[in-house]
Amino acid sequence: DVSHNVLLYLEGISVSFDGFKAINDLNLYINDGELRCIIGPNGAGKTTMMDIITGKTTPDSGSAWFGQNINLLALDEPAIAQAGIGRKFQKPTVFEFLSVVENLELSMEGDRGLWSIISSKLSGEQRDHLDKVAEMIGLVEQRALRAGSLSHGQKQWLEIGMLLMQRPRLLLVDEPVAGMTHQEMDRTAELLVSLAGAHSVVVVEHDMDFVRNLAGRDRTVTVLHQGSVLAEGTMEQVQNNRKVVEVYLGE
Ligand code: ADP
Repeated sequence: DVSHNVLLYLEGISVSFDGFKAINDLNLYINDGELRCIIGPNGAGKTTMMDIITGKTTPDSGSAWFGQNINLLALDEPAIAQAGIGRKFQKPTVFEFLSVVENLELSMEGDRGLWSIISSKLSGEQRDHLDKVAEMIGLVEQRALRAGSLSHGQKQWLEIGMLLMQRPRLLLVDEPVAGMTHQEMDRTAELLVSLAGAHSVVVVEHDMDFVRNLAGRDRTVTVLHQGSVLAEGTMEQVQNNRKVVEVYLGE
């Protein structure tokens, strides 16, 4: 029984590589506006799950729906991005020789990004959105700086901003705090929490202190193991789950 505000719906998803089941009857429901943390030991299937949601990998069986009636398994990668699913990979891939603003302009929805740089003409509405994004990612004062001169954390936030320029409904974020200072990690948690509500955010992360910070007391944490959901609940619930403890002790 799926509630009416489910945004992403994966059911009975399986995929094998050379006979090895990387994803094994996976069921996952992400609500509209939810911030969900996904954890699990190496090889649990987290990356493969993200690849399936974004159309990079096609599952052998199961169904995947987005929004009211978008069948993700019928779409290719660009069409899935177009439908409102943005993915941030672990390493930042900003254009180092362009300014913060130029990076954001380039990422604008549709094909207007490049044109806006050439013509320096953005509509008032586009300008407002860019200003809002620069503020959300905390890079207002750095707007004119070359992206290459930013800190590692700032580059990660800029890349999240580049995704936000496309107004996604769902953001998939892969290990955002790898290599960050503690202060940058805290700011990243604040940023991701601030995105929830207006967006759904799925964060795959290894750093347990960060997950604890991000999930707080009430948010749902999903534990993947051997390609399916081992446990789901608040951080406190999953930490005290015997099966979860066994899996992590065995790592
Ligand atoms: P995680 O991201 O949780 O560490 P992955 O999704 O990367 O896990 O991998 C799940 C399992 O599937 C691993 O055992 C991995 O070796 C295997 N796997 C992933 N992608 C491929 C592939 N393209 N070919 C063969 N095996 C793969």
